[in-house]
Amino acid sequence: MRAFVVLACLMSGPLGMPAGPSDTTASRIPDRTPVVPSNRQELPVVGEGQLKIWIEKWQTRLGLQSWVIEGKVVRTWDLPQGAVANIHWSLPKQKATLRVLSSVDYNLSKSEIPRDTELSVIHELIHLSMARLPLDPNHTETEEDTVKKISTALLNLESADQQ
Ligand SMILES: [Zn+2]
Repeated sequence: MRAFVVLACLMSGPLGMPAGPSDTTASRIPDRTPVVPSNRQELPVVGEGQLKIWIEKWQTRLGLQSWVIEGKVVRTWDLPQGAVANIHWSLPKQKATLRVLSSVDYNLSKSEIPRDTELSVIHELIHLSMARLPLDPNHTETEEDTVKKISTALLNLESADQQ
């Protein structure tokens, strides 16, 4: 099994969610079997308290303190198809909402979900850190590839530090 899934990302301008003209969205879509909604009744492995801790940690590390970032643990129907995470931001308002998939709908083992969710947090916050760049919304592959490499490298560094 590969240590990290290949990620693809949908970038979109002002469409989808209720958004102002300057709002932008990016989603993390893993290249593995589709995310499927579950009807299990259980508490998510990663709750919003843990999500907040990760957002604050990586927000500080990435120098994004000027942003107000809300974290939400959501079900699959609250995300674009196949996505495990998504960030929606307004650059002029410096506000963002980061959504991660609840473990209830994740197609990973429970032991893998916390690390994958933290990877989603890093991934989406790197998108946010690039929000001011003159990126081409019609060719997001290069941005996506860069975000994947940096987020994976940062999480690997974090893991190395803890050993
Ligand atoms: Zn992405």
